Amino acid sequence: MIAYLDPQQNQTPNPPSVAGDGTGTGTGTSNGTETEPSITTASSDFGGIIHAVPAAVIHPKSITDVASAIRLAGTRHLSVAARGNGHSISGQSLSDGGLVLNMRSLDAKVELVSLPDGKYCADVSGGALWEEVLEWCVKNYNMAPLSWTDYLGLTVGGTLSNGGVSGQAFRHGPQVANVVQMEVVTGDGECRVCSAADSSDLFYALLGGFGQFGIITRAHIPLQPAPRMVRWIRVVYDKFEEYTADAERLVTRTGPDAFDYVEGFAFVNSSDPVNGWPSVPFPSGPSFDAGLIPVGSGPVLYCLEVVVHYNHQRNDKVDEKVDDMLRPLNYIRGLEFIVDVSYVDFLSRVKHVEKEARANGSWESAHPWLNLFIASSDILDFDRHVFKHILKHGIGGPMLVYPMLRRKWDRRMSVALPESEIFYLVALLRFPRPYPEGPRIDEVLAQNHEIVNCCRSNGYDFKLYLPHYETESDWAEHFGDGWSRFVRRKADYDPMAILAPGQKIFSRAAPLRLL
Ligand code: FAD
Repeated sequence: MIAYLDPQQNQTPNPPSVAGDGTGTGTGTSNGTETEPSITTASSDFGGIIHAVPAAVIHPKSITDVASAIRLAGTRHLSVAARGNGHSISGQSLSDGGLVLNMRSLDAKVELVSLPDGKYCADVSGGALWEEVLEWCVKNYNMAPLSWTDYLGLTVGGTLSNGGVSGQAFRHGPQVANVVQMEVVTGDGECRVCSAADSSDLFYALLGGFGQFGIITRAHIPLQPAPRMVRWIRVVYDKFEEYTADAERLVTRTGPDAFDYVEGFAFVNSSDPVNGWPSVPFPSGPSFDAGLIPVGSGPVLYCLEVVVHYNHQRNDKVDEKVDDMLRPLNYIRGLEFIVDVSYVDFLSRVKHVEKEARANGSWESAHPWLNLFIASSDILDFDRHVFKHILKHGIGGPMLVYPMLRRKWDRRMSVALPESEIFYLVALLRFPRPYPEGPRIDEVLAQNHEIVNCCRSNGYDFKLYLPHYETESDWAEHFGDGWSRFVRRKADYDPMAILAPGQKIFSRAAPLRLL
């Protein structure tokens, strides 16, 4: 029988607010942000597959509140999960019978900091959403971070604890390569500041560290002048070899003729409105002319998505530059889609998808997503087995596949990656309709297993991104040579294994259930 910690007995010095009635529903706002998640909300995440009821939800206002909560958990044998925006898929932001810290309640102030080299960074809360960081930086200083995620309703601390990738990663590195300093409370309850120069082991441990070593309360994110506009281009391929050859050429190109963003996705060669041709064109532009697809094309086609930044509304130089950049690419002529939008609208593009998904109910349903990093040397084989065979009818959502460069990821970070210098993100972002209209979730999870098994049995050089494992041996295999360092860092920074229990990497002594 489980009895829950009475939040009134919390005994936190200068207590932050606590949700503990266990009955409330979330007070999510229209932008999908949970300002005061209740016990009910904090018992689940975006994945909607794993449920775990915490003893209490704490709403810290400051680093001192975070430290108090961790120390309290230490004395009560509880675990502590920092909840960013709860957008994990497999329960990583949950704490079964422990404490959940609502990171969104931290002081949201943002400050501009000048660096010794004359550049600037934004000093932001670990609980800030990237969309808030973007708005503040552009509005006040016409500046912006360099590296993003596709969707900006994620927190700074949440993506720094994982990786944070999008179409800028090939050029500027992932978000974990775009932070210069972090303020953190480690699992021993100590408040610390770390950077590549000071407490560098802790700094790199936190980056992609799944929240295992400390709770990030603030971060310094480097900025660059924000461009005003982007030219956003999609071009279609029928042959995966040509798609990957072009994509890899683009991500290894440097200098003025490099794109500012390179992504892409696989889609079904059919008229299916979600999985097929209609998923490619921009809403305001021309539609997809399927008559241009070469006869004999396979069940799946590919769309390369690239962007050029610029600063003027109409700029002939952009036309010329884009023409020059597109000319050598081997896409199907006539299947190119081009639109000019503001930089902020481009970065906010998934917001529209969110609005539609909320309207049709698929935002709230279960999301059995699968994210993989796969070596370039194995991606053609993966395409044959997975895209063209297992997933040839689509997944009811985007199937991203685009390359990035290993050299942009510092090996001292906690993140585990394939060995290959070029590797692909494959993101299977499923939005299934609820059963029985859509598939049963266990069937979809079984398909995810089949895909991972396919990677294993074919000996691919691959890693799960945003992984979820149940056993220590699986985690050891995931980290490979980095496992002993990960274990040593855990002993150094969170010796009682208080933090991020939802990751299921280390076990805390069984939580004390107070009756
Ligand atoms: P949560 O899910 O709340 O937390 C994730 C983990 O980090 C948990 O273990 C938690 O305890 C820990 N954590 C949270 N905050 C902190 C903190 N301040 N300090 C220490 N640990 C902390 N990822 C990409 O890389 N690129 C994308 O384009 C992308 N798009 C996405 C789109 C959607 C719609 C969704 C749902 C997810 C997407 N993700 C993407 C995945 C995203 O990176 C993860 O969901 C990640 O967990 C961040 O979400 P969050 O901020 O809500 O953190």
